[in-house]
Order: sequence, then C-alpha cells, then structure tokens
Amino acid sequence: MPTEELRRQVVIIGSGPAGLTAAIYTARANLNPLLIDAPADMEKQTTPGGQLMITTDVENYPGFAKGIEGPELMMQFRQQAERFGTEFLEEWINKVDLSKRPFTLYTDNNVVKAETLIIASGASAKWLGIPGEAKTPQGFGGNGVSACATCDGPLPAFRNKRLVVVGGGDTAMEEATFLTRYAARVYVVHRRDKLRASKIMQDKALQNERIEFIWNTDLTEILGTQADGVTGVRLRDVKTNDERSFACEGVFIAIGHKPNTDLFKGQLDMDPVGYIITNGHSTSTNIPGVFACGDVQDSVYRQAVTAAGTGCMSAIDAERYLDHLPVEMPSGEGVTIEGEHITADHKLIIEPSGEVISNVPVLEDC
Ligand code: NAP
Repeated sequence: MPTEELRRQVVIIGSGPAGLTAAIYTARANLNPLLIDAPADMEKQTTPGGQLMITTDVENYPGFAKGIEGPELMMQFRQQAERFGTEFLEEWINKVDLSKRPFTLYTDNNVVKAETLIIASGASAKWLGIPGEAKTPQGFGGNGVSACATCDGPLPAFRNKRLVVVGGGDTAMEEATFLTRYAARVYVVHRRDKLRASKIMQDKALQNERIEFIWNTDLTEILGTQADGVTGVRLRDVKTNDERSFACEGVFIAIGHKPNTDLFKGQLDMDPVGYIITNGHSTSTNIPGVFACGDVQDSVYRQAVTAAGTGCMSAIDAERYLDHLPVEMPSGEGVTIEGEHITADHKLIIEPSGEVISNVPVLEDC
C-alpha cells in the first residue's frame, strides 16, 4: 500500500541519457525534479541507466575523444544530475493517471503528483531468447553478441570478422550495410524468404557484395567460450528442420525494439509499434504538460546523443509550460498551462472559455 504522497513540479521517468539530461536541465532551473526509475531486475530485464549500462566502449558520444565505457558515462550523467539537486526514487510505477493535472503516479510505496511529466522510459531491444545470447558471463552478450551495430560494430572485436545479422526489417538491413564497413563478411540470417524492410533499404543490402543472405533460417544457439567470445552459431533450416554449425565471430540481433510504453497505453497517442507521438518541433505529447524524449519516441535515430538532445528539449518544454508560455503540441497548435490554445498558424488564441481572440500584434504608428 502506498505510504506517502510526493508532489513535484517536474517528475521524470527513466534514467538513461534522455531522462538524466532532462534532470540536469530542470534541476539547474531550480525545478526540483524527481526522477523515478525501475530497480535493477534480471527477470524483468530492467537496468537503471538504460541500454548504455549494457554497452562496453562508447566511441561516438561527443566530448570523449578516447571513448568511454557505457556504465561510466551513465555514472557521469547521474552525478551531474545529483550535483544540481535531482532526487531519485528507484521504484516500480504500477499505474499512471494522466486524465488531469497534477498527474498521478502510483509506485510500490508512494503516490507521486506531478505538475509536468517527462517520459524517458526508453526502448528495449528484442532478443531471440536462445542459449548463448544472455549477457556475459551467462552468455556472450557484450562479448561478441550485440543488438546495436552503430554502437558496437566499429569495435576491434568485430573488425575484419565474419558477422551474422539476424532479422529482415529496416534495422537488420541498416545494421548489415553499416557493418560491411568493418567486417570481413556479413551474413543476414532471416526466417523467411522475403524481407520486411522498405524497398530502398532492401535494395541497398541485396546489392551489397559484402552481404550474403541465408534465407528460411533460424538461429538456435550462439556458440563460443568466455575466453574467445563467439566462435559460431547453430542454424536451423525452417523448412527441413536440418541444423548445422556456422562459423562467425560476432552476432547482431536486429529483430526490432519495443518502446517501454505499456504504462501509458490508452492515455497517450502512440504509433502502431507503441512509440509515443511527438512532432519533432517539441517533445509535447497529446496531453499538455506530458513530454516524451529519447528512444520512447524515436524509432529512427536511437543514439545516446540524440536521446540526450531530446531530454534537453523536454526540460526546456516543461520549463516553458510551467512559466505559462505556450508549448507546441503534436498537432502544431500551442497550449499554455492555463489551457489557452494558439492555432498552428499563430493567428488566433482560443481561451479555455471558448472565446476566440486575435494573436496578431497590433502595430502602433511610430
Ligand atoms: P521490424 O520491421 O519489426 O522487423 C523485424 C524483423 O525481425 C522482421 O523481419 C522479423 O521477421 C524478424 N523477427 C522478429 N522476431 C523474430 C524472431 N523471434 N526470430 C527471427 N526473426 C524475427 O523491426 P525493425 O527492423 O527494427 O523496424 C522497426 C520500425 O523502425 C520500422 O517501422 C522501420 O521502418 C523503422 N526503422 C527505420 C529505419 C530508417 O528509416 N532508417 C531504420 C530502422 C528501423 P518477419 O519479417 O518474418 O516478421
């Protein structure tokens, strides 16, 4: 049973680069943010700090010329957020009520009231669930198995090696094409004989001489040793059920991502996959005062630096909203905390009472 009620101007959900950047900005703006994140749980596959906590070297985060380890980078983010007074609460959120402001979040032990809510709960890569795929030392995750070619592909462990990419969608095509810059050869293993990817992405991969396709095939196991990492995979022909071993030194699972948005279903507008809809000009969702940043609203870029960038946008959007200034909604109209609506062409203001007034400045003669 909840024991305490907490009330904050800004509540942030998620402690990846997006959530922590939102925390740094809102804390520096004296908004006393509370950041809530799920505790680490092996079974539920939650890791405070997000996907970077399971990444080794991060070579593409600007500002670290020699690269930085994922967990170390997230510790730096967190310490920076703490330095300006961010409060942290590590608890499961069981329910949210976004029907009226302040929004209400029910955690295991608290009821949290939020004037503005910044959702940065991230996305999780989907995994096959086969032997050898788990994080090292249980499997080879982080030691030859990855779900992010942009993050890990350029690492020495994958250079000039035979790499397997699993999947037939845009992500798989993009990752396979990207990996050909470094790998000796890339093998795309797909469970059907047709790709799901868009035509342009398919064509690029199919025409790439360094990519070979293995059709109608499943991975059943990733092989290797903790000392050597991945040494091969077991492949199963889905038509004949025949199994064989296949030598390779790296495996990239590219079967899609799942945004962590179940908690908000039915309350926030989402695309068919479950990504929260924002319009790119701001991080507003369809509910004024609720903002979304990072991978939870981005199925395309999914980088730590873009997540941090949208985290900064969310913080500024929340600050503006709390300062009674209009923020742009996904529809293009502006909305203030008082409920005034400014039309997308900026010409009219619709008051909460329904009264319509002109937003065009009256220029006085000089
Ligand atoms: P996706 O379109 O859902 O494709 C997932 C692929 O993985 C499918 O080919 C699927 O096979 C396969 N798969 C799923 N579960 C599997 C399993 N258990 N075992 C074996 N194979 C499995 O996911 P996505 O490629 O990540 O794309 C998601 C969205 O992001 C799409 O809308 C895409 O267009 C977009 N995206 C865009 C870009 C870009 O524009 N640059 C880049 C990446 C992604 P089946 O085909 O048999 O179902």
